[in-house]
Amino acid sequence: RLARLRARLVKSNNVFGKSLLALLSQDEIDEDVWDEIEETLLMADLGTDPTMELVDRLRERVKVEGSKDPARVKAMLREELIALIDPQLDRSLNTEAAGRPAVVMVVGVNGVGKTTTVGKLARVLVAQDKDVILGAADTFRAAAAEQLTTWGSRVGVPTVSSDVEGADPASVAFEAVAKGVELESDVVMVDTAGRLQNKANLMDELGKVKRVIEKKSEVDEVLLVLDATTGQNGLSQAKVFSEVVNVTGIVLTKLDGSARGGIVVAIQRQLGVPVKLIGLGEGPDDLAPFEAETFVDALLE
Ligand code: GDP
Repeated sequence: RLARLRARLVKSNNVFGKSLLALLSQDEIDEDVWDEIEETLLMADLGTDPTMELVDRLRERVKVEGSKDPARVKAMLREELIALIDPQLDRSLNTEAAGRPAVVMVVGVNGVGKTTTVGKLARVLVAQDKDVILGAADTFRAAAAEQLTTWGSRVGVPTVSSDVEGADPASVAFEAVAKGVELESDVVMVDTAGRLQNKANLMDELGKVKRVIEKKSEVDEVLLVLDATTGQNGLSQAKVFSEVVNVTGIVLTKLDGSARGGIVVAIQRQLGVPVKLIGLGEGPDDLAPFEAETFVDALLE
């Protein structure tokens, strides 16, 4: 399964990997080549500062070692990329709570893949023998609750939702958590709305959803879902969210359709929050834990 995920990531990112490797394989890595390497990293959304730092370090190492053997330079590039992504960061999901269900809130703007992520993650947790309940707190799109309920039945977990379109999202979230407590579930996952048309309202609403949940239980994990294909644009959204709710992890979706994997570095730097999961497709199995080494290897393949 991991191999399949990896193949998919490789397929989408190989533009990035191929051009870097082609660049490194030239007889002479001259100024122009270093410029092109820099450009390629920027195109992959690594961000300006990390790109410059990485190229500087690489140049320095090539100079010190005096080796321009492409395989050796590639190995150095791999090490430097892994170091940038910070393999030491704790990327585990907080889905264990003593004596009560763990509560996971999933936030992000419309269309990034929140509902899909909730469904896929529910499946992962069910496979770990956990009792899961879903809460459909995106009450503004009638289809959202339906979509979540469909995912719920697909993976065999109940979904708490409201029949009333436009119902108070905080009260649906509260009910889902209350239900989880009543049934002694292991995890309650709350899907939230993401209309960005009115940023102030959305943020007020999210803050309220969280506060209301907290009347019943702590919130153990707030996952912010970002769409990798939106690249650096996603970052400004991410900042707005992290100002309102204390984001504990990032889920980066649609990496299967993007050659912009470098965004992982930019996100972690700017938000100080680890990427915990990656989405690699629309199917129920297309969610993987983020792992720095595997990711970089896929980028460079
Ligand atoms: P939400 O509005 O944030 O809840 O987004 P949805 O979960 O409804 O997803 C929006 C669209 O993105 C749907 O068509 C999903 O199937 C698709 N999607 C979600 N995650 C991924 C992913 O990792 N890869 C791809 N290719 N599509 C995805």
